[in-house]
Amino acid sequence: MYNAPSPPPPPIAAQKRTTAVLSLVAPCYNEQEALPLFYKEICDAAAELKQFDVSVEFIFIDDGSTDETSAIIQALGEKDDRIRYLVFSRNFGKEAAMLAGLQTAKGDFVAMLDADLQHPPDLLPTMFQAVKSGEYDCAAAVRERTGDSKPRSFFSRAFYRAINRLSDIELIDGAGDFRLMSRQYADAILSLSERSRFSKGIFQWIGFRTKWLHYENRRRVAGDTKWSFWQLFLYSLDGVVAFSSKPLAIASVLGFALFTLSICAIAFVAVRKLMFGDPVQGWASTVCIILFCSGVQLLATGIIGEYLARIYNETKRRPHFVIRKRK
Ligand code: UDP
Ligand code: MG
Repeated sequence: MYNAPSPPPPPIAAQKRTTAVLSLVAPCYNEQEALPLFYKEICDAAAELKQFDVSVEFIFIDDGSTDETSAIIQALGEKDDRIRYLVFSRNFGKEAAMLAGLQTAKGDFVAMLDADLQHPPDLLPTMFQAVKSGEYDCAAAVRERTGDSKPRSFFSRAFYRAINRLSDIELIDGAGDFRLMSRQYADAILSLSERSRFSKGIFQWIGFRTKWLHYENRRRVAGDTKWSFWQLFLYSLDGVVAFSSKPLAIASVLGFALFTLSICAIAFVAVRKLMFGDPVQGWASTVCIILFCSGVQLLATGIIGEYLARIYNETKRRPHFVIRKRK
């Protein structure tokens, strides 16, 4: 007798879930000392979040660590079902790790936090409530700068002033990547496919309603920061170039101003020669002017080069990262 085949079960995504899922994404690069402490704290946060009828999944991204980080993550993944992980084939940088985490996260809510406990997981329940209520699309933590070294605070403030003046977006000093967002917000971030990513700018660019939560600066629980001053400088340059084309306009204005000045100078010298017969003196001043003008030209070419390099990178369309292992 013919038995009609039973229809296949609906895909997981289409099955109605009873409780909401929150994906916690943590980029990790050489965090072997911090990871066990971090895992304990996020487990505590997940237990506290249960009261809001939400289950939590952990997504660890090992950004090509050279220490035991990847082994620790895999061992944790074996004993805890809530854990999923990606291991990169090399270090691709925190931006790539965060993007990979966002792409992997399937939760109705997504939170991103550093693995060094500088982003306190005990803020998560407050953040979750703000987004769950529907009043906000994202809850973001703002770090007070107390305890930062003087030069670092000085340069970050200068950077925020510069980027806010140069670009159309308004960055908030101290607002980092520690945030909890709705699915819609996460999808909006993913819809920006650019190669050189500057998350602080992307968050502001996509808009939505954000609740700002202030918290005291914390020291890393273990290990060292992975950012040198030079890397931070290049990253801020990325931010300016990605969200503003005003430096190009400044280069043009500078060029135009110098051109006008030189016309005036030529007229001045010519008139003086014709009317008073003064010979023009001073090779030193000529050398200074030549140096100044070639400096300005190099600066303008450099600015154009920054944009050109990024266009070149975008056109290659290389993937943001390569995965060696996943669960
Ligand atoms: N991180 C990463 N890839 C990198 C550098 C850093 O995934 O190339 C991770 C790191 O493990 C940490 C977070 O990004 O979880 C923040 O890094 P870090 O603490 O070094 O930065 P800081 O807090 O000093 O700005
Ligand atoms: Mg840190």
